Amino acid sequence: LQDEVYKSERIKTVSEMAASVAHEIRNPLTTVKGFIQLLGEPDIDKEKREYYQKICLEELNRAELIITDYLSIAKPDPEVIENINVNEEISYLSSVLQTYANYYNIKMHLVFSVDPDLHIMGDRYKFRQALINIGKNAIEAMQNGGMLEIKANQVNRNVVLSISDTGVGMSPEQVKRLGTPYYSTKEKGTGLGTMLSFVIIKKMNGKIDIKSKIGKGTEFIFIFPKSY
Ligand code: ADP
Ligand code: MG
Repeated sequence: LQDEVYKSERIKTVSEMAASVAHEIRNPLTTVKGFIQLLGEPDIDKEKREYYQKICLEELNRAELIITDYLSIAKPDPEVIENINVNEEISYLSSVLQTYANYYNIKMHLVFSVDPDLHIMGDRYKFRQALINIGKNAIEAMQNGGMLEIKANQVNRNVVLSISDTGVGMSPEQVKRLGTPYYSTKEKGTGLGTMLSFVIIKKMNGKIDIKSKIGKGTEFIFIFPKSY
């Protein structure tokens, strides 16, 4: 497991990333500002008005997506490091993703740890953001339906958490690019979700393993030290 995808070198520090994300949000805002000014001009025809409006909405949607993928950084620090109950987080994650999964006709299967007291250490809200980003990607990989599985269990002194989908899958080259800022194959992707998740998980001393097959699906496996 350990020799698989593991790329902390490639990930910039959180503060560097936050600065670059701020820049990414400023661009759409500047565009919107410009078009709103144009919209204020006196005899502007209907066609132009609709066109400016359309661009404004698109740019604002983009800013919104960036903020969503980067929520935990936008939230004020400091981090609060505490014991996190793994089963509780599986419940939370599944409830957050339920509507999105329903939308694509995706079934969800949860496998809770047999030990209800299984814990890991970290900032609960950042951890949630990390899992939501991975779960969102899993759903987006299954636009014609499928199965999202979320599992947790203890292996030796570790906690293993897995999020798997039966979606489009990735080639080994694509898997290698995961975690690189702004790498996205989606028309409206930000390319920030996986990067942020990896930063958060590594900060929690987590290891990341990814198994993927084109046309079959993907499994993200996170291995954390168990907290006693
Ligand atoms: P975004 O979702 O905005 O594209 P992410 O950083 O969340 O950015 O993901 C980067 C890319 O990694 C995606 O565009 C997609 O190509 C790929 N990817 C991530 N998770 C999966 C998955 N579960 N199945 C297939 N491809 C994935
Ligand atoms: Mg994403």
